[in-house]
Amino acid sequence: MDRGIVYLVGAGPGDPKLITLRGLEALKRSDVVVYDRLAGPQLLHFAKPDAECIYVGKLSDRHTMKQEDINQLLVDLALQGKNVIRLKGGDPTVFGRVGEEADLLQKNGIIYEIIPGITSAIAVPAYAGIPVTHRDMASSFSVITGHESPDKLDLSIQWDKVTNATGTLVFLMGVAKIGYISEQLIAHGRSPETPVALVQWGTRAEQRTVVGTLSTIEAEVKAANLKPPAVIIVGDVVNQRETLSWIEKKPLFGQRILITRARSQASELVAKIDDLGGEAYEFPVIETKLPSSSEALQAIEQAMAQAEAYDWVMLTSVNGVEYFYRWLDHFGVDIRRFHRAKFAAVGPKTAEALATRGVRAELIPESFRAESMLESLNSVVSTGQFALLPRGDLAREILPRELRELGVQTVEIDVYETVLSAPRDVWLPELLEKGKIHVITFTSSSTVNNLLEALRRLGVQNPVEALQNIDIACIGPVTAKTAEDHGLKVTVVPEKYTLDGLVEAIVEIRRVTKGE
Ligand code: SAH
Repeated sequence: MDRGIVYLVGAGPGDPKLITLRGLEALKRSDVVVYDRLAGPQLLHFAKPDAECIYVGKLSDRHTMKQEDINQLLVDLALQGKNVIRLKGGDPTVFGRVGEEADLLQKNGIIYEIIPGITSAIAVPAYAGIPVTHRDMASSFSVITGHESPDKLDLSIQWDKVTNATGTLVFLMGVAKIGYISEQLIAHGRSPETPVALVQWGTRAEQRTVVGTLSTIEAEVKAANLKPPAVIIVGDVVNQRETLSWIEKKPLFGQRILITRARSQASELVAKIDDLGGEAYEFPVIETKLPSSSEALQAIEQAMAQAEAYDWVMLTSVNGVEYFYRWLDHFGVDIRRFHRAKFAAVGPKTAEALATRGVRAELIPESFRAESMLESLNSVVSTGQFALLPRGDLAREILPRELRELGVQTVEIDVYETVLSAPRDVWLPELLEKGKIHVITFTSSSTVNNLLEALRRLGVQNPVEALQNIDIACIGPVTAKTAEDHGLKVTVVPEKYTLDGLVEAIVEIRRVTKGE
């Protein structure tokens, strides 16, 4: 059997978008993903659908997997012919023990690649508005380990040399020893007034910064109860933060917002949250797929066969448009066979999806509920007309019912099915429990139903209760009603039922919650 390749990859400091393109390619190509808590679970979404994900980090009830065991695991998997990615926080060569992993792979004749990542030593200061070098203040920087465990000796640190280095000092794994570190630096000649910053969980929603001087920082850290992981930055560059802090000034900074919609549809909402400095946490609970039953297939085939007969084709979602076209292709039907039909599209996005395929909708109801489509329909349809409604299996009944009441002969076809997507991120229950999710977004009723079901499958006994203290944001009243029927307390429904409206309303409620 062929041996697999092992990719030893730096995942960056936490924000999943800070992985490199090469790292991402390796991830997409791997059969097994070996990861830990510093290398974000959010990156798992990019793995192949059938990739095995192995967690080797710390769990509250279990210890970390030993480094030797991880080394061996990588070898064993590669010997089984699997391509393996070992995701590591920051850069793999900066206190990442990549040498030991690579060494054993080398000894076993396994091909490996070391793919650098953005180390927290520079990225975390940058997200706090602190550049590690500066033309006028620091012409070098040193990255030093603080040896987190307080009982370990730090014989390897040559304090006299470190202290007298010209530039910025960056300590990793040093929170527990901040008092000792400051003491040593002062004892070896750095001014007690030297500015110091600690940045905890940089590039993530929890990012928190404490600033002081070598003489005050220990007390500041205690007062703020700042815990690892954090990066310590010592030097005048710390003062730059007063003017250069950037992400902290954005309206959604510090907010982790759960995105439940299908991954294929999430990017727009993710980008909007991202732009506003929030952390979009993707947890897709729905997936659409082609319907499988033979009845559904037959109905579609039949509908296509009489393309020339329709007076109307009415589409109610972007998915509806996409899948309608897939079926046209499947049955070899040219869109021009619907030459008699006018097209209707609920909402501008649906209309846009049609327009990109060369079809301009004649009717685009102004507001985005099926009800408002009816109002506009009333004046344009007439008794005896023939309408086709390509939609999802969970579409609401109101539109076809009312059309029939208007005397329109209506054919509905389920061009796609909505199913619960199996969650591969097992961390959500813990994040919810610890209050680390601030807002949950629901963009359809099925996202509500499926999130509750997904949580149940992850062992949460009372999912509604688990969501009690979190802002629940629904795109419109129909989705909100579904959420309320489950017993959820909906705190956000925008005036305009669009993604922009939703995001604006979230900014507003979080402003209020934070007491601004
Ligand atoms: N290879 C990693 C460092 C591993 S040592 C890198 O290049 O970044 C682990 C230490 O890194 C932590 O104790 C902490 O000091 C630092 N660290 C990593 N990610 C961090 C983050 N998001 N915020 C603050 N510190 C972080």
